Amino acid sequence: MALAVVLALGGETYLSKSEALKLVFPNGEEVEERWVDADPDVHRALEERCGVSPSRFLVYLGRRDGKIAGYAMILREITKTLPATFIVGVDPAGAVTEVAVLSHEEHIGGECRKERFLRQFDGATAASNLKVGGGGGVLPMSGATMSCNAVARAVRRTALFVKLQLVDKLQAREPVRRKKLLMGSFLEITADGDAAAVEKAFDAVKRVEKAISNYDEASELSRLHRERAIEAGSDLLAFVNDSLRYAKETGGAFDPTVAPLVRLWGFKEGRHRVPVDAEIEVALKAVGMSKVKVDGRRVALPEGVELDPGAIGKGQGVDAAAVALREAGVTRALIDFGSTQLAMGRWAVEIRDPFVEGKSLGTLTLENETLSTSGGYEKFFEKDGKTYGHILDPRTGRPAERVAATSVVAPTGAESDALSTAVYVDGKIPAGRAALLVRPDRTVEVAESLRAKFRRSGE
Ligand code: AMP
Ligand code: MG
Repeated sequence: MALAVVLALGGETYLSKSEALKLVFPNGEEVEERWVDADPDVHRALEERCGVSPSRFLVYLGRRDGKIAGYAMILREITKTLPATFIVGVDPAGAVTEVAVLSHEEHIGGECRKERFLRQFDGATAASNLKVGGGGGVLPMSGATMSCNAVARAVRRTALFVKLQLVDKLQAREPVRRKKLLMGSFLEITADGDAAAVEKAFDAVKRVEKAISNYDEASELSRLHRERAIEAGSDLLAFVNDSLRYAKETGGAFDPTVAPLVRLWGFKEGRHRVPVDAEIEVALKAVGMSKVKVDGRRVALPEGVELDPGAIGKGQGVDAAAVALREAGVTRALIDFGSTQLAMGRWAVEIRDPFVEGKSLGTLTLENETLSTSGGYEKFFEKDGKTYGHILDPRTGRPAERVAATSVVAPTGAESDALSTAVYVDGKIPAGRAALLVRPDRTVEVAESLRAKFRRSGE
């Protein structure tokens, strides 16, 4: 590539742009090229400390695992009368990591590309004394003072712009992304905010888990199951009240009292089996949210009645995470619990194809709302050529089998989560609900209200 470049007046090209970027980003970093405007305060600082300065720069952002790993700028500076081109690499803390010469047009001064000279800039920052000679911290190459001056100017300009505009402003606003295993699934939060805010959101989900887990013997729900009646804390109470509300709204298609049946089919412990009719009949006697009594904070369960939070818990978790983020001042975030996603602000999310793992069915745009997806593919077993899925119809005590997957968009996670399970059980989109369902024959039905937000893959 470099071979084809011929410069006037005997100037030389030493490195192509891509070779230069490889020097700065040698570890396969993902490199983004972007024009960045200097804010007025940054432009003023540049003119004061580096002389006449452009008001926007082409910068290269190197990322590893989505996080900024370094910056590069390629600058043209006049040496004597002709320009030379330099690349300067800077780390995320603002320290120079690399300086190299791409081209030098003047026929004298080319010695400025000697390593002995360039290595003097390693580790330099915007605060370093980068003047050449005369009390400056940089020693020139003899006979190449003007070119050496040009290099130092490029480094000063880059170090200052990167520190003031990129490290202090752009980098500080980069979203943080953290992932944690909670409620038996990975919760990934991407937020325009600091790591401390995201940690608070994780803590809020942990708090909900501690209240409503049916796997943790020490949870408040486990205590309710043992003691049958307790004064419930806010998170357990919210779970019970929301469950009452959505069980009623869905005519019992969603109903956490399905717990004894989930256990009977072996979905709780992962020891799957097909129960006989008589066992199902017995278990069904303990099903029905109306058996659960709430009086103020007091929750009471009749003997044999048990609650399974599996169909609404992650929804309640993302809601709690959103409250914590908002309290910490975050206004834009994606709280992704896999099967339930809450968007603060506008986000595009993928809905997975229930028939092909890793394939997307399409993209849905969410804005200050949540999406929940229920799928038979999540947990199922096969017996005698028949497939049994983990979502049960609380009225028959048997796996629902009308659909392959359902998705519901709603204002809160608890609502979308409960309803996606209910739509899965009933196999039809309730009037006025923003739902989508995939039939076993792979046809996709999309509610009118979702059509503008949903784009099918390949369309
Ligand atoms: P989801 O993935 O949100 O649809 O929740 C499914 C989980 O909720 C299952 O793995 C069971 O633990 C539980 N569950 C199964 N069927 C129902 C139902 N009809 N109503 C409420 N919870 C259910
Ligand atoms: Mg659900």
